[in-house]
Amino acid sequence: MRWKKDELKGWGGALALEAELARPERHAALADTLAETPCPAIGARRSYGDAAVAPQAIDMTRLDRFISFDAESGLLEAEAGVTITDILNSFAPKGWMPAVMPGTGFATLGGCIAHDVHGKNHQLAGSFGQHIESLVLMGPDGKSQRISLKTKPKLFRATIGGLGQTGIIVSARLHLAKCPAGNMAVHERRIEDLDAFLEAFNGSRADYQVGWLDMTAKDIHLGRGILEEAHFASGPFAPSTKSRAIPFNLPGFAMSTPLVKAFNWLYTKRIPEAGRDRERPLHKFFFPLDTIQHWNRLYGKRGFHQFQCVLPDDEAAATLALMLEAVVSSGLASPLSVLKKLGHGRGGMMSFPMEGYTLAVDEGYTLAVDIVNKPSAKALLARLNELARNAGGRIYLAKDSSLDAGYLPAMYSELDDFRAEVTKADPSGAFETALVKRLNIRGQA
Ligand SMILES: Cc1cc2nc3c(=O)[nH]c(=O)nc-3n(C[C@H](O)[C@H](O)[C@H](O)COP(=O)(O)OP(=O)(O)OC[C@H]3O[C@@H](n4cnc5c(N)ncnc54)[C@H](O)[C@@H]3O)c2cc1C
Repeated sequence: MRWKKDELKGWGGALALEAELARPERHAALADTLAETPCPAIGARRSYGDAAVAPQAIDMTRLDRFISFDAESGLLEAEAGVTITDILNSFAPKGWMPAVMPGTGFATLGGCIAHDVHGKNHQLAGSFGQHIESLVLMGPDGKSQRISLKTKPKLFRATIGGLGQTGIIVSARLHLAKCPAGNMAVHERRIEDLDAFLEAFNGSRADYQVGWLDMTAKDIHLGRGILEEAHFASGPFAPSTKSRAIPFNLPGFAMSTPLVKAFNWLYTKRIPEAGRDRERPLHKFFFPLDTIQHWNRLYGKRGFHQFQCVLPDDEAAATLALMLEAVVSSGLASPLSVLKKLGHGRGGMMSFPMEGYTLAVDEGYTLAVDIVNKPSAKALLARLNELARNAGGRIYLAKDSSLDAGYLPAMYSELDDFRAEVTKADPSGAFETALVKRLNIRGQA
């Protein structure tokens, strides 16, 4: 296998490494490559921090074939390099789609399993890994085995959301959900502040919900933004068309505060006070940022961090207010911050959504904020991580670039079980990535 030198960096661009990459096209080439040079797999590199960064890695994007599909049950088998958009474009016309879709259709099947991703319908559909019937896992010796929750429950739960640490996911069988229409009926309304946002989420019965926060709004306007609620409408499915691209890294001033303020003001004011209803094609609703390729270049060479946490419901209001105040006063504001409600659906030991500890506390909120990579970002991120920990919340490892490794055991309660499975599956640490090393996720002395 030919190895190519490349700079491997997260989607945020703040963490990078000179790396060697192999891109096998066939199962046999993958097995040979791994047996000769055991190292982690990467997908479309849509993780923001260093989850998909390592000195050597196997790029899975050429292993992107559909293997089989049962049109009666909706069970799809595909190689791990298939993207969410590939699945949507191929199966929505037949009336099927992934039950869970992250905010980018560029993510691969392998990447979605390895982070057990969630969508705008988490309360209804749970997480991505909960729809995996079984998967083929390749160990560091290049040998494969099919595993499922029934046959190998511990290894399976360590693999779903397992950051690629138990082996390379070669292919998976995924239960697709019915796709009733090609358009979503979207209701958008302005929300005046944070309390109103939480109240609106609590009152919402929509299948899909997402809040966009204006991170420049201060004082009595703190937490204002737009709530989008949606359900399936009608009309045939139209595949995504070619998107426009940001051709190169923009200069630093592209994300300056006045521009961000103007952007947020325009974004909020485009929704009339009474709200508005419109129909959106599926890919425009589910993957709004994919319409501009390489939008991460807007942040320039220095890149950005994304902070994403989940907070238990009873702590959410007070902690979110403190977080928003910290971000707004830092001046490192980002135009698009996302607030969503999360349920308890989680498929693995290291999955991001929170366990349901009690009957009374039954949901949580997730906040995702983009933070420009300036020197002062470090202190802000440390403060946000600390607030999340103090509230009994956790940080999303698909986005992380700054967590204090000491917080990990309190945030991920199944960490010890995960470590035990990883040690069995990969005793020599061949699949370790930069993220796993930085946070000592394997718990090495
Ligand atoms: C615009 C945008 C919106 C997003 N919205 C959401 C969202 O709504 N919800 C959400 O949960 N996430 C979201 N994400 C995060 C994204 O879905 C995850 O980071 C996902 O893992 C990316 O998939 P990928 O193929 O790019 O994987 P990569 O980033 O390349 O890799 C991610 C991890 O998976 C491992 N991995 C990849 N392929 C394999 C394989 N075949 N076998 C074993 N391990 C493998 C890698 O080692 C790494 O640890 C978003 C990201 C972006 C850029």
